[in-house]
Formats: sequence, structure tokens, C-alpha cells
Amino acid sequence: MWNNKAITIENYSVFWRSWFKQKILFVQDVLNAEGNFLTLEEFQNKFEIKTNFLYYLQLIAAIPSDLKKKAAAIEIPSEELLDSAKLSSSVIATPDLTLDLTEMRCKNYYKILSGNGITEPTGIKNWKNNFPDYFTDWGKKFSFIYKSTKDNKLRQFSFRLLHKIIMTKKELFKFRLVEDEACTLCFLPDSIEHTFLHCTVTTAFYLKAISWFNHENDTDITLSSKQITFNDIPRLTHLTGYPRRRLHLFVIILKQYIYACKCLHKKPNMQEFQRKVILQWQMEKCALP
Ligand SMILES: [Zn+2]
Repeated sequence: MWNNKAITIENYSVFWRSWFKQKILFVQDVLNAEGNFLTLEEFQNKFEIKTNFLYYLQLIAAIPSDLKKKAAAIEIPSEELLDSAKLSSSVIATPDLTLDLTEMRCKNYYKILSGNGITEPTGIKNWKNNFPDYFTDWGKKFSFIYKSTKDNKLRQFSFRLLHKIIMTKKELFKFRLVEDEACTLCFLPDSIEHTFLHCTVTTAFYLKAISWFNHENDTDITLSSKQITFNDIPRLTHLTGYPRRRLHLFVIILKQYIYACKCLHKKPNMQEFQRKVILQWQMEKCALP
């Protein structure tokens, strides 16, 4: 009876939760043995529900006569059948998932239907094609961002980088916003890959920055350009609490700093970078001792 497009009041299908809870589920529930609508009194006795008679009339008036006839001719499904009514079908992503139909609401169906198509973002697909080894679990790369920093700017930047939606001269040139597509740091053809993986200015800066990190934290970590770009930081078991948090933040800031320098057409500067990192460590409460 509920959410039935054939039963409408002022053009909207109806769902009255309190009635539903009283197990008023089918048109048959408001019919007597002869197939006629229950009187208000019969209805109230049957369901122990106190209702305004206008409400009741409104509902039974909304039930079209053909539906009423049909309902009178069909037996109501038994309680046991309803209790055991489970839906498992190939339209559902996990075939072993069973659903209790008596408990299903619109939002549950919506969840199933929308959850069914977990589509991989285009940027991720693209990274995956070129670097399959680094994208076996891309969800983890996103959770790395949110675990590593509370800073919205850093989060947004990292998010956009993983989705490949940041601009380099390659994209700007495509939109005819710049004259050429030369990297502002090394003058080779620019791209997102170039900026973070191949640009010699970037890779040299990565090396210098990591060596500074090691010096400050008394560690001897090595990270490849891919590991830095894809948030693929190995589980360094010897690193505990603070140093590990410092490393994760460092990796995020490093990329954002390089990108910012490129946008400003200036070479990355180690002192400036160190100041930024140290400040961020302080703000995110994992400062150097
Ligand atoms: Zn370059």
C-alpha cells in the first residue's frame, strides 16, 4: 500500500510510518472478508490505532477500485513468508547479501542501487594504467591524505593530485592559455607526471629534502619519486608516533611546495621549504623535540 504510485493523495504516494509500524501493509489489510473497505470502527478495532476518520477516508479514497478488486481476489502473503522474504539477486553487487524485505525502505534500495556501481575515478584509472604496481589499493592513498594532515589546503591539493585534476603547462597550453608547454623549472614538456616524477629539478629537490628530513629526525629513509607522488610510504616499523607523522606530513608538503613554486615560476628553495615544514609540524602538533 505504501509508496505505491497507484495510491496517491494530492499526486504523492503515501507512507504513514505509524500505520506501517502497526503492520498495515497491504490493501487487503483495510478490506473485510467480503472485499469491502473496513468501517472506521472495524479498522480501529483491528489495528488498535487511534485515527481521525478523515485520515482513514483519505487513504481508502486514494485506493483505486481496480486495485481494491485485485486485492480482494488475492490472498495476503503470510507472516512467515514475509519474515523469510529475502532478496538475493544478481542486480545486487554482493550476491550473498540477503535483505529483509519487510525492513526495506527507499533509502535502502537507493543505497543498493547506487552502491552497486562503485566506479573508479578517471584520474585513478589513468594512473593505474601507467603505474599498475602502485595502484592496487587506491582507497588507501586517499585515506593517507586524511590521516596525515588536518590542513584543508594540503588535503585539497593532495586530493586533486591523486585525481589528476591539477593544472600544469600541458593543460594550460591545451586550453591556449599559455604560449608553450615547457616546464617552468627545466623547460622540458610539462605534465603532471613530469612535475612530480621526472622533472630533474623536482627529483633533485626530493633528494635534498629527504636528506634534511633524515638529518633532523635521525632516520635514514629513502623514498622514490613514485613513492612520494603516490603516497606510497612503506611501513617503517622502527618509526614510532611523532617521527612517522612528521614523515607523512613532510611527503605531502613536499609535493605541494614544488607545485606552488612552479605556479610562481620560481625555483624551490630548501630554507623556505624547511621553514614551511617545521611550521606545519608545529601546527599539527608533531614538532621536532
Ligand atoms: Zn621540469
